[in-house]
Amino acid sequence: MRTMQVVQPGRPLDAVDMPIPAPGRDQVLLRVRACGVCRTDLHVVDGDLTEGKLPIVPGHEIVGEVVSLGHAVRGFSPGERIGVPWLGHTCGTCPNCRSGRENLCPQARFTGYHLDGGYAEYALAEARFCFPLPSTYSDAEAAPLLCAGLIGYRALRMAGDARVLGIYGFGAAAHIVAQVACHQGRVLYAFTRPGDEDAQHFARSLGASWAGGSGERPPQPLDAAILFAPVGALVPQALAATAPGGTVVCAGIHMSDIPSFPYQLLWGERIVRSVANLTRQDGEEFLALAPKVPVRTEVEVFPLVRANEALARLRAGRVRGAAVLDCT
Ligand SMILES: [Zn+2]
Ligand SMILES: [Zn+2]
Repeated sequence: MRTMQVVQPGRPLDAVDMPIPAPGRDQVLLRVRACGVCRTDLHVVDGDLTEGKLPIVPGHEIVGEVVSLGHAVRGFSPGERIGVPWLGHTCGTCPNCRSGRENLCPQARFTGYHLDGGYAEYALAEARFCFPLPSTYSDAEAAPLLCAGLIGYRALRMAGDARVLGIYGFGAAAHIVAQVACHQGRVLYAFTRPGDEDAQHFARSLGASWAGGSGERPPQPLDAAILFAPVGALVPQALAATAPGGTVVCAGIHMSDIPSFPYQLLWGERIVRSVANLTRQDGEEFLALAPKVPVRTEVEVFPLVRANEALARLRAGRVRGAAVLDCT
């Protein structure tokens, strides 16, 4: 099978042919149909995240068709279309796993980071972490739901009942979260790179009632802000735009250093928090909600062998919505 792999961080992906693997007792073998390209993949390729396996097949928004099953797998059958997210394995027994916080399991293994992912024609996944997918989405349209959607949804939940919500960085996750937030009746403001009028227009087309540069003040203070851009300097900027009692949610797995800032920006019971990974419950809730909103994903599709081009466009901020690889 054809794969695209990180062999050495800091270099482009290499095309590597490998034997098609056989599923272990708890795994499914999937024929990958589409795989989303996430900013986290860039952090893996660039070597910002250093705890993973090398070489690694990246990709944790896998839409695939079940080819075969390990002997202990129940609930899926060959031919079924399912999705594989970032959370690929947990221990199931630690205090976090037993208290609904499996996203924080110290033994967790992540797809496309510790476990080979979906930049390939075939992939293995542990069946209990896979999801059935809503039938109303094509393969490419469904892929961004699996990380941009799920982790965006978790970040939105961490924003609580904020009526006025600011989103910093208007990429794949933001374009999904914006639709959910508007569906919930929130007022949405979008912050983009200064002068990025395409992204601001895109945000307004998805329901933002105001869109501007990240250093601008919105029409009214935010009740919460979600940061999808991996830029630490946005944290004090977002705090300055947030009302007392409000929360700034950092949704990325990696962020540049946060500069020091006056305590006055945090004062007033403002909260800064991160969102780490996802739980299966996040996935079940979001995948049930998405077709009801209905969330529409906008995708730019690249053939698997052009994964490096997809990553380069994402790095340059030139993808409208989400980049997706066609692995068929
Ligand atoms: Zn655990
Ligand atoms: Zn992701």
